[in-house]
Amino acid sequence: MTIHTTIQSILEQAQAGKAPTREECISLLQLPEQSYESALLRATADQLSRAKFGHAGMLLAQIGIEIAPCRANCKFCSFARDYTDLPVHKMSVEDILLHGKNLSAHGNLHSLFLMTMHDFDFENLLQVTSALKKHLPAEVDVVVNIGDFDPQQANELHAAGVNGAYHVRRLREGIDNTLDAEERLQTIENIRKAGMDWYTCCEPIGPEHSPQEIVDQIFEVYAIGCFQNAAMRRVALPKSPLSRHGQISELRLAQIVSVVFLAGLECKELKSMAVHEPNELGLLSGANCIYAEAGANPRDTEAQTERSRGCGLADCERLFMECGYAQSVLPSGKLATLQSNGIQLFA
Ligand code: SF4
Repeated sequence: MTIHTTIQSILEQAQAGKAPTREECISLLQLPEQSYESALLRATADQLSRAKFGHAGMLLAQIGIEIAPCRANCKFCSFARDYTDLPVHKMSVEDILLHGKNLSAHGNLHSLFLMTMHDFDFENLLQVTSALKKHLPAEVDVVVNIGDFDPQQANELHAAGVNGAYHVRRLREGIDNTLDAEERLQTIENIRKAGMDWYTCCEPIGPEHSPQEIVDQIFEVYAIGCFQNAAMRRVALPKSPLSRHGQISELRLAQIVSVVFLAGLECKELKSMAVHEPNELGLLSGANCIYAEAGANPRDTEAQTERSRGCGLADCERLFMECGYAQSVLPSGKLATLQSNGIQLFA
């Protein structure tokens, strides 16, 4: 079996520490996901990712703390105002603390994310953060995944103990929803200026997105610099307008994870690579991070995703172990053990 020489050269340069160019990333994304070259791409990204991130996973968890019809109206999200069936709900502080306790129970959680709709109750978020800071193990960071916010709010969140924020200028932002792409980028600047870690992602990827569009999004992120990058496929929720396109395979998502990782090889800020939703192929293709989930989830039609498609703490630990990760990194850089569920690695 022979490998196309151009692809071989891109992968060899990556092994020497050189990130592929924009055109090279497009070539990598144009490979059929079932091809020999795509398998070599994924294997290369896997090995380089393990080396870059110290052979440690990063275990994160997210709690969706509220549900309401969202005016952003993203054509892929279960909370979009035009077609949501989910009941309005705000999770009590007690329930948030209970989820936080369960998700951090094994001493290996890096960060706990709080997710809201695009419009959110800022004061409530500050109160929840303050309560979590008192009750979570000191090693666990608190991160927000919320709508756009201004510089003052960014500073207030940081002062309240929020360590980072997930924020994305999505693929087709302003086309597949009502949001303003420039405002999304402004919020990212606000996050960084406030001194918080910026978590981001190439999302929500569907079959209709071209390699060029995906690469534009990837390079926009690395031109800024991020703490975490990722790739997420769009889930074809039955009532969502974009479900007519279907969804990409986990194998295609894994290929995109590899390209997102390799494109960030020279990004010094980059501390981990995630795949959404958690799956083995992604963890074997350059991702070292997955998220457990509880409460609201934009990819779920159930209000409590922990009872539906959301992975729990034990599910994530098992996925890590199946993919050869026995430890997860904490914010201090210390390593914590992932519970093995009886899986023994052939060391
Ligand atoms: S993805 Fe976020 S911003 Fe878009 S509709 Fe859903 S909750 Fe609102």
